[in-house]
Amino acid sequence: MINEESITAAAQLIHLSKYIVVFTGAGISTESGIADFRSPGGLWSRYNPSEYANYSAFLKHPEKFWKMHKELSETVFAAEPNLAHTTLASLEKDYKKVKTIITQNIDFLHLRAGNTKVLEIHGSGQTANCLSCQTEFQYTDIQKLLDEGQDVPRCNKCDGLIKPNVVLFGEQLPFEVLQQARDEVSAADLLIIIGSSLTIYPAATLPSMALSTGTKIIVINVEPTPIDNDADVVIHEKAGVVLPKILERFVHIQNGSST
Ligand code: NAD
Repeated sequence: MINEESITAAAQLIHLSKYIVVFTGAGISTESGIADFRSPGGLWSRYNPSEYANYSAFLKHPEKFWKMHKELSETVFAAEPNLAHTTLASLEKDYKKVKTIITQNIDFLHLRAGNTKVLEIHGSGQTANCLSCQTEFQYTDIQKLLDEGQDVPRCNKCDGLIKPNVVLFGEQLPFEVLQQARDEVSAADLLIIIGSSLTIYPAATLPSMALSTGTKIIVINVEPTPIDNDADVVIHEKAGVVLPKILERFVHIQNGSST
């Protein structure tokens, strides 16, 4: 059962905040049908991510990586934003509350839902790059090569190895995007953390940064997270169920305070 007091407390924090930053992980997209690292029967229970989504493994056995990634990207391209994504878009567009989304996801569902400032700190599955000549490709063009039977897509200019623009284990995060994310967390007076186990670094240092500067924190995650004890509000429920309720309560509080 959803704890109504926590819903009200989260809505109050949103009402009182002027600069809200949201930090999301794979859990926000499970209700869109994209498995997180933990879902039983999901992609990651069949492909060990540290083996199949690892940069040095990609260079040695790109065909293994592409077998896994083809399946993942088919799921990602078929997925639609869920109520958690669309609620965050409404908190930006309709209520000017959410300033930035920092996401670990590569599924571009926040952009498709309508949020405009989205920092994709682990990259995006929408594009791919040639590792030799740096030519950028739309992922949908690479998908055609895979569908034609190529098991390792190659650059049409230099025959180099093509890699989706997603950060693999063992790769650096894009420096500029990570720096922007740190700046946004520093500017925030409220950080809402949704659907992340907070175990992947350096992404997981962002919530700790917020803690050290006294920024208010809301955690929405079905399982406990390492930051729960220090957060102002913790809700262990599905994001797509709980976020619309928080929005409704926030609108109620906002309307009440303006009359
Ligand atoms: P994670 O898989 O480690 O943790 C996800 C968390 O979300 C879990 O604690 C789980 O309990 C929770 N969760 C699951 N469904 C939920 C829901 N409906 N509502 C609220 N919480 C829910 O994810 P992570 O911390 O993001 O780290 C995984 C890494 O894998 C990230 O780097 C991410 O980029 C990548 N990844 C991305 C996608 C994607 O783009 N959708 C999918 C799988 C993995």
